Order: sequence, then C-alpha cells, then structure tokens
Amino acid sequence: MPHTTFQRAVAACHAALGIPPDYARTRSLDLQAPPPFWIEDGLDLQGRPVRLEPSASRAFHALTRAARDRGIVPVVVSSYRSLEHQARLVRQALGRGQPLASVLSRIAPPGFSEHHSGRAVDLSAAGEPEPLTEAFEGTAFYLWLTEEATRFGFALSYPRNNRAGFIYEPWHWAYRADPTA
Ligand SMILES: [Zn+2]
Repeated sequence: MPHTTFQRAVAACHAALGIPPDYARTRSLDLQAPPPFWIEDGLDLQGRPVRLEPSASRAFHALTRAARDRGIVPVVVSSYRSLEHQARLVRQALGRGQPLASVLSRIAPPGFSEHHSGRAVDLSAAGEPEPLTEAFEGTAFYLWLTEEATRFGFALSYPRNNRAGFIYEPWHWAYRADPTA
C-alpha cells in the first residue's frame, strides 16, 4: 500500500475511533507502514502464521534457533498486524468502557503499532501461564533476550517509563537493524 494511501486510511480510522487528528504527533509516534510483503515462518500461540518482514523474519529465525540451543522454546503471541486488526483491538477496549487515553497507552493507535511494520513480535516462552504480562521479565527467555537479542538486531521497544508513553512491555521486541544496510 503506498505511503499516502496508508496515511489516509489511518486518518479515516482515527476519525472513526474518536482519536484527535494530532494525537500521534503529540506523543511523537512514528507511522508504521506495512511491509510490501512478508514471510510466514511457524505458528503463533493461537495457531496463526507468524508473519514478519523478510529481514526481520530471517533474524528472528536465527534468534529462535539460538534460544532453542539454550533450552528455551520461544513462543510468538503476535507478529504482523493489519490496520483493521489494530482498530478492532482499540474498538473492543473502548467498548468495554475504558477511557481512550488508557486504551492507547496499552494498544497503539492504528497506524502507529510496530506490528504493522512486520518487524515486531510479542514473545512468551513455552509453558508461561500468563503471556503479555510483566511476569515475562521473570522468565529465563526474557533474561536471555536482554543479553542476546541485540546480536540478532532485536531490541525491547517499550521499557519502563518509555518516551512513547506506552506501558512497560517486556514481551514486545522489534527488529531494528536497517534491512537495506
Ligand atoms: Zn507488541
């Protein structure tokens, strides 16, 4: 999808959800354009294909192999996510009566989720009882990621007190290496 087409779709989506037009700018969030294509490699926790942008997919495959060598079985909870999927998550949370500001501190505004770019993965480890909670920082996988993920180009996007204003997400890692480098 061309950049401007994506921007227009994002603007329409925000208007429909009641997100102010300048909201993303006030939080200095970057637009996360979808990749031209992606690679499917393995299945996520819900049995959906893990979809990542090609460079991120290759790097994540290598990361997974290295973790398995250390006896850790990585589980992907979420990977590429469309604009519509993100909008649905926001709509569902708003439908439960949660205030917009609170919802958007946990769920990125549509168009600004790193999951759109195909470079982000939400991670858990096999047997972890409660994925997507701060408990992940107590797992052997998390400890391993803090020591090894940068070797594969992955970094924690939302540490405690992050500038983007998201809650602490120890499970959310994104591929940062420049795919054209
Ligand atoms: Zn995430």
